[in-house]
Amino acid sequence: MIDEALDLFLGSSCIGCSTPGRMLCRVCRRDLPTGASLAWPTPTPPGLVPPWATASYDGAVRELVVGHKDRGQWSHRRVLGVLLAGAVRAAAAELDPEVPVLLVPVPSRRGAGRQRGYEPTAAIVRTAARVVRRDRRVGVADLLVSRGAIADQAGLGARQRGDNVRHSMHCPSPALARVRRRWPVAHLLVCDDVVTTGATAREAQRALEAVGLTPHAVAAVAATRRRRAPGRLGVDESLARGR
Ligand SMILES: [Zn+2]
Repeated sequence: MIDEALDLFLGSSCIGCSTPGRMLCRVCRRDLPTGASLAWPTPTPPGLVPPWATASYDGAVRELVVGHKDRGQWSHRRVLGVLLAGAVRAAAAELDPEVPVLLVPVPSRRGAGRQRGYEPTAAIVRTAARVVRRDRRVGVADLLVSRGAIADQAGLGARQRGDNVRHSMHCPSPALARVRRRWPVAHLLVCDDVVTTGATAREAQRALEAVGLTPHAVAAVAATRRRRAPGRLGVDESLARGR
């Protein structure tokens, strides 16, 4: 409520269609996708578990993600959490409904939120958990931490991204012990805002597997759609634009 009042007060406009008023107008909100689908990156990092994403990373969704992560527009958390919930539901659909689902946020790397002590990805994941909790037992497990500074991913190709993030995450023993006590049996899902090359999700999966955990799938708000322009075979336009 306060966010929306502020948006109106500050004279904002819809990030999807520029209509003055709310940061996401009713029409653009209604047009957001609901069902998720598999979004395998090309090339797929070897061994990556199935990646589910609700939206393609463009238009209003891209503005929501970037605004939330890099511009401190934290009110987008709710709509992004609902989108992530779609991917979580799709990923969990074939799992035993009696077994709880544990959402593991990919640790944030950069952005306005991170700098102010706000974990953008973890915040979206918590919102998604509240949505999915209406249907089944679900928890959030902050199992992964970043080992430190990672070079900015913008402008890097798939292979460079893989090298950049390899062994960049780990699962601290106290966190693991805590989660094992609380959730002795659970299905793990790696959760992120955007799947681009899959390198980050694969690294999260590796870090969990290194401590004996077996993530079942990846769930993301959105995935980049690969566009292959003539003469630029294999160049992903979204990579050039960052993230
Ligand atoms: Zn709009």
